[in-house]
Amino acid sequence: MKITDLKCAIIGDNPIVRITTDEGIEGLGQAEWTKPYLKPFVLYYRDAILGQDPTDVERVISRIRRLGSFKPWGAAVSAIEVALWDIAGKAAGVPVYKLLGGKVRDKVRVYNGGIRVPLKGNDPEHYAENMAEMKEFKEGFSIIKQGISFHSQMAAEVPNYFYGELPKYDGPPRGGVRPPVGGPLTEQGLKHTIACVEAMKDVLGDEVGLALDCGPGMTVHDTLRLAKALEPLNVMWLEDTITGDYTPYVLPELFREVQMQTSTPIHTGEQIYLRQNFKDLIESKAVRVIGPDPLDVGGIAELKWIAEFADMHGIMMAPHGVADGIIGIAAHVHLAATLPRNYIAFEYPAGKPEWWYDIMDGLPDPIVENSHIKVWDTPGLGVEFNVKEAKKHLSDEDKGFFD
Ligand SMILES: [Mg+2]
Repeated sequence: MKITDLKCAIIGDNPIVRITTDEGIEGLGQAEWTKPYLKPFVLYYRDAILGQDPTDVERVISRIRRLGSFKPWGAAVSAIEVALWDIAGKAAGVPVYKLLGGKVRDKVRVYNGGIRVPLKGNDPEHYAENMAEMKEFKEGFSIIKQGISFHSQMAAEVPNYFYGELPKYDGPPRGGVRPPVGGPLTEQGLKHTIACVEAMKDVLGDEVGLALDCGPGMTVHDTLRLAKALEPLNVMWLEDTITGDYTPYVLPELFREVQMQTSTPIHTGEQIYLRQNFKDLIESKAVRVIGPDPLDVGGIAELKWIAEFADMHGIMMAPHGVADGIIGIAAHVHLAATLPRNYIAFEYPAGKPEWWYDIMDGLPDPIVENSHIKVWDTPGLGVEFNVKEAKKHLSDEDKGFFD
């Protein structure tokens, strides 16, 4: 089998990858809806993979892997990797999880980091009210993540929150082009943050786990103070306090300094590209949980390797995925089905906009039940476009995407 074309269209805001072959089998991949600018970076790899056998996934990806990087630039390679697995599964007539080593679980746990109710303010009662609403979601999430500190509006809207200045910026509150914010917290800022977490825990009790996305931008000593203050609350993890998100480096020794002094699990890794960049983090046991995103780290086989290596070092795995879209859900499910016992849950990506659920077939209905997704057995990733419906959402530039 040979690759005949690599196409990319922006559907909604998601870059969608479609690889075609001379045997009529095609594969789909996707990047986050936060990266609509990625199309030229996907197409940059086209000439390097044309004519290759897509079922030799590693051989094809090894031609382009060195040309990716930390978030957002590893996403193009990752989306292509996922599309190759889709083809390989269809060619073999088996679901992708079989090619990754076979499943060790029939349903995979997800956590809520993306289905949101807007916060009405930044005070403890707002966080409590918001958490109470999310606790009632029909998906029955057993872990809910909330942004606090520099991963929220606290720095911008809570008076005297930190010793630092907010950069001027009029764009959306999140995303790669947002200028970084950070600095030492005031005592009031630290106490405010702790009070908000306590208010959320009062709502969740010990029935639903609370994960906290915190930065990046916190200092080492504020991370340690927050982690120690939260020890009695048994939170799932503190994510990306010091570096993370779009930071193009890791600094594992800073996380290690914190993690060695607290029982609160520290978490990082969503921006990291490739196993080699997890090596120091894992070998030095700098954190208790890592969260690579299969659509940023270099693909599902790359994440599988990192998960096995982390497991040998007693480090847990909670893959990032908030903006990975519907094809992303499929990639996560096949991957999570095969991960070792350090797997906690992956971050459930919601289709955005809502019409995404109308243009793709193959997902279970309902998708999430009791915080789990049942692993399906259709060949490849097992999700396909309803081409007639999907065509309605193609721009003029992408009109030929399904041809
Ligand atoms: Mg995060």
